Amino acid sequence: MSALISACRSPLSALLLAVGVALCSPLAAAQNARIAIIIDDIGYRLNTGLRAARFPGPLTLSILPHTPNGYRLAQIAHSEGKEIMLHAPMSSMRDLPLDAGALTEQMSETAFAATLAQNLSAVPHVSGVNNHMGSRLTQQREPMNWLMAALKQHRLYFVDSRTSADSLAFEVARSHHLPSLRRDVFLDHQREEAHISAQFLRLISLAKANGHALAIGHPYPETLDVLYRGLADLEASGIDLVPVSALLKPAASPSFIEADDKASGYKKQETYICPVRI
Ligand SMILES: [Zn+2]
Repeated sequence: MSALISACRSPLSALLLAVGVALCSPLAAAQNARIAIIIDDIGYRLNTGLRAARFPGPLTLSILPHTPNGYRLAQIAHSEGKEIMLHAPMSSMRDLPLDAGALTEQMSETAFAATLAQNLSAVPHVSGVNNHMGSRLTQQREPMNWLMAALKQHRLYFVDSRTSADSLAFEVARSHHLPSLRRDVFLDHQREEAHISAQFLRLISLAKANGHALAIGHPYPETLDVLYRGLADLEASGIDLVPVSALLKPAASPSFIEADDKASGYKKQETYICPVRI
């Protein structure tokens, strides 16, 4: 009981109580909820990437291939105990300029697979893949089938960043029985600490409701500042920060996915465009 009382005195707990999350019930204390946080768009700038790599907790870093510092940052982050993902560039509905190694709907299956393989060899220690941009490509079933078949061969997991409300990526990944997740919360769609803090609390609330939740953010100073402050309170609040792979579970049936949607408050209309060259 003393642990519960002290948990409820922490600043984050006080905030969570203010938004109506019952942290101090015996039920909540029985098993810690888990969150995973992907920091992506890493590779262009060394300093911002280094701060994420040296963060004192198990963030998962997703790295753009063929970037000036991507390979080096992957090595450093891995040595710091971080899980590494490939942040695979894909074509977008806005026809934004494509990053090196972009996958597009114009590619043949052979070119698609070769480009993906080159991207994977440009980032060491990769455990999984999420899409960079991709609001156009993730709506295309055939290239998503190619992607998931290739990831299965490479024994990698997939996270749908959900940059389009109409993304098929998660559904196709599940149909291939590929270990896969989709993003629940974007932390820093608005680059303001108040917004990022509110999104962090939303992540915690979802984890409390569902047992787990997955966020994506970027190595902005504002985002990392919020995470530094918030993570200091997580353990006392009954939340474990874990690498993405720790959240993976066996492929679910469609009815289970629908139940997940309902429980997580999944909003089909929510979309997001990745910033680039952070
Ligand atoms: Zn991105």
